[in-house]
Amino acid sequence: MKVLAVDIGGTKIAAAVWDGALGEVHRTPTGSDPWGSVTTLLDPLKDGIEAIGVGCGGPMSWPAGEVSPLNIPAWRGFPLRSELAARYGVPVRLHNDAVCMTIGEHWQGGWGTEDLMGMVVSTGVGGGLVSGGRVLNGAGGNAGHVGHVVVEAGGPLCPCGARGCLEAIARGPAIVAWAAKRGCSATTGVELAALASQGNAVALQAFARAGRAIGIGVGNAAVLLDLEVVAIGGGISQVPSLWPTLRLSLRAHAQIDYLKDLRVEPAALGQEAGLIGAAALFVDPDRYWTGD
Ligand SMILES: [Zn+2]
Repeated sequence: MKVLAVDIGGTKIAAAVWDGALGEVHRTPTGSDPWGSVTTLLDPLKDGIEAIGVGCGGPMSWPAGEVSPLNIPAWRGFPLRSELAARYGVPVRLHNDAVCMTIGEHWQGGWGTEDLMGMVVSTGVGGGLVSGGRVLNGAGGNAGHVGHVVVEAGGPLCPCGARGCLEAIARGPAIVAWAAKRGCSATTGVELAALASQGNAVALQAFARAGRAIGIGVGNAAVLLDLEVVAIGGGISQVPSLWPTLRLSLRAHAQIDYLKDLRVEPAALGQEAGLIGAAALFVDPDRYWTGD
């Protein structure tokens, strides 16, 4: 089946044709006119496609596919799914970008498990779940949103309104802000990661603190869902100083016997996981699509 796979984020949009394997990936900045960017990217790729699978930043109504991505202010309740169907004349399926990343990792990541959580740690903290070999959606498509598991009661305020969510501590901007308060000059996650690699103590502490929080959040999810694998992607996950405290904290907080073989590792597919998962919404719907 020939599926046009699309991955829409606040900074860039990626698209590729899946035809038994993922073809060349095309990218464009999201910009201030996201619909214009989407159509400019997709129009040249539309020939012969039978369906369009989309991963997009949330929140969204699912499966209706009306999107209000936090990082795309131009879209509030934008009917992305129906607009794409109307323009390209093919069926469209759409899910949260972190859910698509999770599906991609389960389908093509070679993990050898039917119980996996995918996580994206970057500007936000997102996630998705495959349980018993099938994607979990929850009542409104939000299952797996591990960024809003509370890891520190009474902790820092989260954009969702609660205190102490994993996202409020481990999202890139929160890590940078924590370090800045302690005199660190970095203004982006990339700058802070560079300082950490040079041995800057505050930068190292900032990532260690995020790693500790991620370990607690991962442990909470794993104990609830009896997970075998947690695959973590996103820019922040590539910072080495995050991982030692993540593993220590996980070991401390997830001690129950059935989690002794839990594997928590960097994601296998890199940036293409979301596109591969978006294609799977059509290529393997028995496992990955229960919407309409
Ligand atoms: Zn929250």
